[in-house]
Amino acid sequence: MVKLVKADTITSLNLEIMSDINKKTHFGYQEVNKIDKSKYVGEVFTSVAKNYDIMNDAMSFGMHRLWKKILVELAAIGEKDTILDIASGTGDISKLISKEYPKTKIFMSDINYEMLNEGRNRAIDESFDSNCSFCQLSGENLPFKDSTFDLITVGFGLRNFTDKEKGLSEMKRCLSKNGRLLVLEFSKPVNPLFSKLYDWYSFNILPKLGSILANDSESYKYLAESIRMHPDQESLKKMIIKNGFKECKFFNILNGVVAIHIAYND
Ligand code: SAM
Repeated sequence: MVKLVKADTITSLNLEIMSDINKKTHFGYQEVNKIDKSKYVGEVFTSVAKNYDIMNDAMSFGMHRLWKKILVELAAIGEKDTILDIASGTGDISKLISKEYPKTKIFMSDINYEMLNEGRNRAIDESFDSNCSFCQLSGENLPFKDSTFDLITVGFGLRNFTDKEKGLSEMKRCLSKNGRLLVLEFSKPVNPLFSKLYDWYSFNILPKLGSILANDSESYKYLAESIRMHPDQESLKKMIIKNGFKECKFFNILNGVVAIHIAYND
């Protein structure tokens, strides 16, 4: 098994961000310097890592498990595919793939050491580590050769990237010919009435749940805000195509609270 090494700095990423030093981006609703965003996102996930799974179940009433199963079904996985799970966190998606397709080769990867370490411990405890490797990396700077993977998955991760376009073009570069990218992410509800209810839940209930279950309301406030700042279904589709994928379609789930985008490399 590949040893998990703690990286103190993601050097190449830092160097690249230095050139963007005066550029701004969003961290939730706050405008921040681009160079600082990954630090703030890192603080959120370091803070939630231990309670991440229990909070996911509580916030989504367990539905995230079904959404991830749908992603794996849609991914049309081949028996011996080489797969990169970006922003793998505690490893839900990798676990589903590993259990159903034990001959695949899966790279679980996350920018955050604490989240990746939770995922690695879980892979060992729940016996899905035999076909998994663990890499601390940014989805915006992939340390892999061109055309390495048959499939790349990103579950609830893209929203947190500093530069989503850079991430998408890196994913395209690392996918083989006809390789697939599957992005599972919060999106925009289609029905305006449902959207109002969802806003009320997100800004009133979510931070309270975070406070009660994880003693951390701020991280869950960030979650609600970051969802609102993320591109809607059509905008994300356009962004994916703009970054070189030949085809992209999406499926709305729960009225568009969540969407799965599937894109194909040429
Ligand atoms: N995929 C898992 C799931 O669906 O349960 C975890 C999702 S969690 C909401 C988001 C993850 O994205 C965190 O573990 C975080 O560290 C990771 N992340 C944020 N920015 C990232 C980046 N630029 N590259 C790779 N991972 C990133």
